[in-house]
Amino acid sequence: MGKITGFLEYKRKTEPYKPVEKRIKNFKEFTVPLKEKELRDQGARCMDCGIPFCHSGCPLGNLIPDFNDAVYRGKWEKAAQILHATNNFPEFTGRLCPAPCEEACVLGINEDPVSIENIEKNIAETAFEKGWIKAIPPETRTGKKIAVIGSGPAGLAAAQQLNRAGHWVTVYERDEKPGGLLRYGIPDFKMEKHVIDRRLKVLEEEGIVFKCGVHIGIDVPANKLKKDYDAIVLCGGATVRRKLPIEGSDLNGVVQAMDFLAQNNRRVAGKKKFEEEIIATDKHVIVIGGGDTGSDCIGTSFRQGAKTVTNFEILSKPSESRPQDQPWPFWPMRLRTSSSHKEGAERVFSISTKKFIGDEDGNLKGLITSEVEWIKGPGGRTVLKEIEGTEKEWECDLALLALGFTGSEMTLAEQLGLEADTRTNIKASVKDFKTNVPGVFVAGDQRRGQSLIVWAISEGRQAAYHVDTYLMGRSDLPLKGEGDLPRV
Ligand SMILES: Cc1cc2nc3c(=O)[nH]c(=O)nc-3n(C[C@H](O)[C@H](O)[C@H](O)COP(=O)(O)OP(=O)(O)OC[C@H]3O[C@@H](n4cnc5c(N)ncnc54)[C@H](O)[C@@H]3O)c2cc1C
Ligand code: SF4
Repeated sequence: MGKITGFLEYKRKTEPYKPVEKRIKNFKEFTVPLKEKELRDQGARCMDCGIPFCHSGCPLGNLIPDFNDAVYRGKWEKAAQILHATNNFPEFTGRLCPAPCEEACVLGINEDPVSIENIEKNIAETAFEKGWIKAIPPETRTGKKIAVIGSGPAGLAAAQQLNRAGHWVTVYERDEKPGGLLRYGIPDFKMEKHVIDRRLKVLEEEGIVFKCGVHIGIDVPANKLKKDYDAIVLCGGATVRRKLPIEGSDLNGVVQAMDFLAQNNRRVAGKKKFEEEIIATDKHVIVIGGGDTGSDCIGTSFRQGAKTVTNFEILSKPSESRPQDQPWPFWPMRLRTSSSHKEGAERVFSISTKKFIGDEDGNLKGLITSEVEWIKGPGGRTVLKEIEGTEKEWECDLALLALGFTGSEMTLAEQLGLEADTRTNIKASVKDFKTNVPGVFVAGDQRRGQSLIVWAISEGRQAAYHVDTYLMGRSDLPLKGEGDLPRV
């Protein structure tokens, strides 16, 4: 284990942030790295629990106490091997994961949990810096060909695992570059895009082919794909945005969050011209929706120079501490304050948007809200009730709809004859990730609905195991939590 008395000697420490006034001047990442000694002390806090509950929180089954111990001892290369045994892309999760492992950490019962995510990021960064992360092409090829549709974290993880098993893998992506929401959803201040590019270089050197700007189901019909490949893995994400069908939602200035975020990410990447510029500069911005996407809109708006940024959430304000009915080690619904929230956004809870107001030219100039409460309805169900007399008008010239995603797009799925549930998630069991059509598998948000990067990587890895088994009758690929230690 780490240091026997480590958890008594050292307090939790994670990378501090640069001050708000500095960080909002650009779109760069703004955390300040810890020194090596500080990171080793953090690794020393791990108690190497008899039952490491952190494992139960991690969808990848990361071998957390093992890499914590290696970091404590300064054995960074070993730590990188342990980490990569279960996680293809710890540099993504080390920056972006909400860290369910930390909520499940035993130390978190009466102390601050081990800073697992920050340790993970630093293991990955050290491994890249030292040149330990190299392409490992398979020694032999099976001759089987696999198409992966979608290059988000699920597609990339499935592709790398299947390539390791010796299959020829082609990843199709309709956007101009691979990465999915990592590249076109998540802003650079949370993860700069060179972090994706350096990993993609390794994947290409290993033999994976990326074909971007190809919309499967539109540019290439499904039956051609079925003819050309021995198996297909759908990793197309849950990209259908939830709408807000109220009066005025067609005004100029009422914009889907993903249109705003994707355009800004392209701007940061160097694109200069857009058909229609969506920009928060000098505007009163209201972000409707309190999740990750909403938070990313807030940080982006501040960096673009918004006058004010307000964030609406229809749910009531959660408590800051763990609610009693969500005990350790479960994931608690408590108030989460992101770095973007701390940049100056006003957060309003229990509020519902009733109507957008426009000027005579059809431009948004304000909106009307009502306060709401959540009460017990018939059968004990919680229902939303508007509080009479609480209508309020807000000044607003950019409203960003960050209301989540309702499911996956169905064009390709329909061409392939795939079954979907009522939310248009493609049906496949976690037992084998097989759809109802032989040879077609599905993983990530397209199967489970809008979720997290860590789940997408986990599903991509698991689906790869089942595709390999389908093609070869057996598989040596690891399943969840089963390490393959020597491999980085
Ligand atoms: C703004 C935002 C911020 C987020 N922040 C976080 C965060 O901080 N932490 C976290 O854990 N999660 C976060 N998430 C969620 C996370 O990004 C997703 O859960 C994850 O990316 C899902 O991975 P995926 O590979 O299943 O799909 P995606 O990342 O959505 O990738 C799917 C890809 O498939 C492509 N595609 C779809 N159909 C086709 C087709 N027919 N042909 C070719 N290509 C196709 C799409 O263009 C896309 O590139 C965030 C989501 C959003 C929207
Ligand atoms: S639960 Fe926390 S303290 Fe225990 S092994 Fe996991 S990281 Fe270490």
